[in-house]
Parts: sequence; structure tokens; C-alpha cells
Amino acid sequence: MMTRKEYADFLVPNIKHDREYYEKKYPKRNLEEGAIVLRVAPSPTGFVHFGTLFQGQLDHNLAKNSKGVFMLRIEDTDQKREVENGIEEILEAFKFYNITYDEGPISKTEEKGAYGPYIQSKRKDIYGAYVKDLIEKDLAYPSFITEEELERLRHEQEVSKSRIGYYGRYAVDRNLQMEEVIERVKRNEKYVIRLKSPGNFDHKIVFHDLVKGKVEMPENDIDHVILKGDGLPTYHFAHVIDDHLMHTTHITRGDEWLSSLPVHIQMHEMLGFEIPKYAHIAPIMKEEDGKRRKISKRKDPEANVFEFKKRGIPIEAIKEYLMTLSNSNFESWFEQDETKDIDDFKITFEKMNVAGALFDIEKIINLSKNFIARLSAEEFYERVLSWAEEFDQPFYELLKKEKETAIKMLNIERGGKKPRKDYSAYSDVYQNIWYIFDEKWDVPKEEYEFDKINDVEEIKKILTTYLEKYYDEKDDQDVWFEKIKQLCEELGYAANMKDYKENPEKYKGNVADVSTVIRVATTSKKQTPNLYDILQILGKEKIASRFAKWMK
Ligand code: GLU
Repeated sequence: MMTRKEYADFLVPNIKHDREYYEKKYPKRNLEEGAIVLRVAPSPTGFVHFGTLFQGQLDHNLAKNSKGVFMLRIEDTDQKREVENGIEEILEAFKFYNITYDEGPISKTEEKGAYGPYIQSKRKDIYGAYVKDLIEKDLAYPSFITEEELERLRHEQEVSKSRIGYYGRYAVDRNLQMEEVIERVKRNEKYVIRLKSPGNFDHKIVFHDLVKGKVEMPENDIDHVILKGDGLPTYHFAHVIDDHLMHTTHITRGDEWLSSLPVHIQMHEMLGFEIPKYAHIAPIMKEEDGKRRKISKRKDPEANVFEFKKRGIPIEAIKEYLMTLSNSNFESWFEQDETKDIDDFKITFEKMNVAGALFDIEKIINLSKNFIARLSAEEFYERVLSWAEEFDQPFYELLKKEKETAIKMLNIERGGKKPRKDYSAYSDVYQNIWYIFDEKWDVPKEEYEFDKINDVEEIKKILTTYLEKYYDEKDDQDVWFEKIKQLCEELGYAANMKDYKENPEKYKGNVADVSTVIRVATTSKKQTPNLYDILQILGKEKIASRFAKWMK
């Protein structure tokens, strides 16, 4: 006969330390009163999802504002679902979006913080110690039931309209005798370790969730697997152990976990741990065909956080958006002064959306436009340059070579109370400014967007007269405009809109039509930022050569 301790050792072999060792190794944190400890705990099972960033930003904010601790923990115990580079991408996403954590992995091999390892697959020994402790106390047991047998059980339960699961009288391995277990293990039969749940489904537990409020659920009576055949724990067990040893005070996570709360609470109790606070966060939703659904990794590639990087949406706009999703009063707070640090806003659980906010790409674009409009031309240039280096090499080369021209172009109608907002992302820039660069100036005739005035001879007349008599590089904007008006008068166009509206029949057209001709001849486009500035950037020689090229 084995003692229970030997039995635990036999079932979970090669574990270096016992539970007491870890309890001592990870002492209580020394934090100020009110400081809270949070973690974001993504699994590397697909692309990094918008929801992960959302939670990261939320936890970061809550920790910072309470002088607490924010950790990143990688939950990679489901190795069947793990994707290649999954961990690296999570780390890169946090780095790129500058969501800094106090503790967690920096790379697959390095980490910061005294409560690690922060990658679950490196914590096997820790989980083993606690599993053994439960076995010793007869609160966990080995189970040999196979996938096929479980499937059969499920079917049987469906037919008899019973609740699905391994519990009560269905949990037959619960009653296996030690001798039999030893025998079967020696025969190399595969087994997992299950929790010996003391729960009663007819009893209710009442719990206060920080976001959802009061929740009432039946007690757990299912003997959940805690340690799988591959020696790794299930999420249920791993998070309980980790959050205990890392001294997490507030567990924020997706509300798909709410239904597992009874088993988690039960595990805390069985292990003798203090129960942390839980905040179940509603998922970000998407509207499709008039219906709302969760955004998903499978259906919504735009939920991949690297899509925004590729598109060149500034990280500040994304973070601002994440903040608007967290608390609805953030926006009015931020509007007062858009230069303040978003993390000075204090997120509260009470103001979180219980139902799930809508993922609103239009809103992201708007925030992005506003943010870009607030940048200086130099700053904007630098950002576009580093974006292009990664995503648009030819544009990168052009920008480097034509730095001065590019900055001037990006500076048009920037600053001031009502800056122009035509850039929603770094990837918008090229299509908005290409025409300013001579090396790109090779536009087929049919692509010129001439509008009201489109007669070739008339256009020629306007361009030649303008260049010969009315254009002078040294003119300031007012003089320049006066001269455009004079040009109109000379050629039979209304110099101002009022006259034109009163007697349209008296004129060939108006000052706007004439300006359009000059604009299109120099840019090919009928809509551009301020024409005067564009002409100034081009200078007389280039203007003349563009006119000539078109007239040829
Ligand atoms: N690894 C879990 C997930 O990705 C995290 C749940 C939690 O934060 O506890 O859903």
C-alpha cells in the first residue's frame, strides 16, 4: 500500500517542489492601500485580436491609476490550438501599441517581474505541486475515461435528457481504488487528473461581478479535468493557481468565462485560496445584417490588431478608441483637452458597458483623422516615413529624397483652429500628395479631371494668359487671388460668385471654374488642398512645364 503522498507522487511524478515551497517563493506583494493587481492573459491561438488590446489597455489603466501592477501572462496550455509565432505576435502587439506591462515576458526566453514564469507552459512544476496536494487530500483523482467513452456518455445523457458532463453517478472513476489505479497506470493506461467536486447542483452560489453585478448560478458539481494527459493543466486550474501565486486582485476577462465561474470559485475554495474579484467584460460586437454578434477571429480579419498597423492608423487613435469603448464618459473628458495623456483618465468598472460595445470602424477613422490633423507636418512626415519603410518601399524612397517638398505638402492647411482632415491613415498619404513630385508626374491626358471648362482651346487660353500676365511667385495669397480675379475679368468670367449668381448669362463661367482649370493643369485633380500653397511649392518653372506638357 502507498501512503497518499506516495500515491500523489506516483500519479504526478518528477515534481521538484511542494506547494509550501511556492507559497513562500511568491510572497504577498508590498503595495499601497487600494492598489490593484491585474493581468491580461491571452492565448496564442490565432491572430492578436482587438479584444486583447482592449483588455490590455483597460488593465494597464486600472493598475496605473491605483499604483498597482499590470501583468501580461501567456496562456499556452492548449498546445493543440497554438499557432506558429502566436506568442511573438502577442508580445509584438503590446510593444507596437505601447501598452506597457510591469511584469511579463519580453521575449520567448526573457521576462521581467518576480512572480514568473509568465508563460504557462513553463510552470508545469508549479501546477504539479498543487495537483499533488489535491490528490493527497483526496480532492482530485485520476481518470482513465477515454474520449470515446465520454462521447458515449454525452449521447446517453442527451437521450435521457440529463445534464451533460462528468459528475455524480456518471463520474465513475471517482470511486476507483488505489490498487486498481496503480495497476492500470503500470499497464500504461492513459489518464488525466480530475477535480473531485464537492458541489451540489441544487445549491446556488451568489457572486458579485464588478461589471455584471449580482450573479446567481448553481454550484459546480462537475469533476473537471485539471491536469491533462500531456502534463499541462486546463485553463480552469492554471488560472486559479497563477492568479493566486501572482496575487492578482482583479481578474478581468471576457464574459464567455462567466459560466465557468462556479468551478473557479470552487477551486479557489478547495485549494484554500482567497477568491479574487472578477470583472467579466462584454465582448466587442459587430453589427451584421441588422443583428449584433461578437467580433470573431474567424469571420472578422479586420479585428486583427496588425491590420490597423498595416493600414497606418496611428496607435494613439486606436488607444483613444479603446478608451471610448471602456467608459462612455471618456470622450467628454478628452474633448476638453486633446493633448492630455489618456491614461490620466480613470476607468471604472461601474461605467463599463454590460452589453458589449459596437466595433465601429468609422469611429476609428474619425479619431485617426482628428489625431493626424493635430500633428505637426514634421511629425506626420516622420510617422509616414517609418510606416512606408515597412509597407511601401517605393514611397519610402521618394519621401526620403523629397523630404522638404513632402513636409511642405503635408503642412498645407495644418495647424490653426480648423485644420484639414483628409488623412485617415498613413496609407492615405501617397494618393493625396503624389502629384507634387515631378518623378510621379506622368498623367495620361484622359485622367485630368477638367470639369465645367473642358474645351481644349479655352483651357490653353486660360493657362497661357495666367502664366504670362498674372502669375508671380512672389505674390502673397491675397495678391495672388486678386490676380486670378483680374484674369477672370480679362477672359469674360465672373470674378466673384455674387455677380455670377445674379447674372449668370453675362459670363462664360466664374472664378471657381477658372481656378479649377489651373488646379487640374498642375495637379490633374479637381480637388486638392489650398491651390495657392500647391503653386508655391511647385514654383514657376514646374508650373510652366506642367502647363506646357498638357498643351502639347
Ligand atoms: N486565456 C484566456 C483567453 O484567452 C484568458 C482568460 C482570462 O483572462 O482568464 O480567453
